[in-house]
Amino acid sequence: MMNKKQTTAAVQTMMEEFPDAKSELNADSNFHFLLAVILSAQATDKSVNKVTPALFERYVDPESLAQAESSEVEDYIKNIGLYKNKARYLIACAQKLVTDFYGVVPQTLSELTSLPGVGRKTADVVLGDCFGVPAIAVDTHVTRISKRLRIVDPKDTPHEIEKILMKKLPQSMWIRAHHTMIFWGRYRCTARKPRCATCPLLKQCREGQTRVKS
Ligand code: SF4
Repeated sequence: MMNKKQTTAAVQTMMEEFPDAKSELNADSNFHFLLAVILSAQATDKSVNKVTPALFERYVDPESLAQAESSEVEDYIKNIGLYKNKARYLIACAQKLVTDFYGVVPQTLSELTSLPGVGRKTADVVLGDCFGVPAIAVDTHVTRISKRLRIVDPKDTPHEIEKILMKKLPQSMWIRAHHTMIFWGRYRCTARKPRCATCPLLKQCREGQTRVKS
């Protein structure tokens, strides 16, 4: 299992390969970013970015979205998976923002996760990207990489992975580490065809060495 020093060094190596890693979701306000992150669950950022310009233009703030009908919102997002549920969540989320938070996206984990459609991962992404609050959101890429590199145990849950990464990485790296690990998972250590032969972490990665040999 990688210790603190090895984990930090591994993430620094990833940062060298992807120095500009950041969210690939487009949004012009915290409210719209929150909507985009909700929409991105089990969908690619690219597919979300295709539908959000029209959605954001129609619903500029929580007040306008809070009054929308589900069918109307569905029309804007129907090319995204789970769009019916997501349309309901978006409207309910906007309604709660209006009734409980004066229409402003809150800045704490407990307040954010009180919003419909907002789980811990979504809240962590919003905290880091909108407010600079140190957080590590654990998605499918972060999970896969943490396990392949033996930073965590194979049976660890996303919440356990989050806690371990927070222990093994300095807080100053958390937000950037999250984005960097996502880029690493998208463009280097992909689920099906990781590019192990040229990977700068091959020496530290038993899974990569096995893949290269076979
Ligand atoms: Fe991923 Fe392969 Fe690199 Fe290991 S060696 S981190 S499996 S790309």
